[in-house]
Amino acid sequence: MALFRVHVVANSNYVTMAPGFFSTLENLFSRCQQGSDFDDFTTTWWTHRPMGRAGHEPIVWMLPNKAASLIKKVYPGVALDPSSGGTTYWKDKGTISEVYMDYQALISPAAQAKMAFHELMHNKLQKGKELHSTSYGNGLNLGSINFSDNGTALDWDNKEMMGAALSKVVPQYEPPFN
Ligand SMILES: [Zn+2]
Repeated sequence: MALFRVHVVANSNYVTMAPGFFSTLENLFSRCQQGSDFDDFTTTWWTHRPMGRAGHEPIVWMLPNKAASLIKKVYPGVALDPSSGGTTYWKDKGTISEVYMDYQALISPAAQAKMAFHELMHNKLQKGKELHSTSYGNGLNLGSINFSDNGTALDWDNKEMMGAALSKVVPQYEPPFN
């Protein structure tokens, strides 16, 4: 039995995540478990920063909009793609994955979870725009995701690549205690 946790930071003063968001995100990760070290998947919700995070466990920041970007604060000068619902960026201070809740395609808690999973694919696989190529699958890796309930889903390549990456340590940016 090994537990894999996804750390979700959502400051409830600004955004509220519905239960369906957490259950969908857990389900997406659990479907990648084959061949991994893990058989139990959970999300942990934080309002400021994670505590006691294991090195292989990723963080996703659920932000109200691009103006609240953590990436822009930590890495000044980074240009965010105006058409994107989320961004993942990494440099010396660690990887940051963020989702913008005002993105109009995020029509449901499940859609928000798909967007978070997509950013965490960039994060865990340490792939930039090349992730969107079909050589990484034909599912949630794609740059254009259908967020409807019957829309884009995980495919076999997505599951295999994420399953292999789950135990990989990827340095995440964590804000200092204050
Ligand atoms: Zn992407």
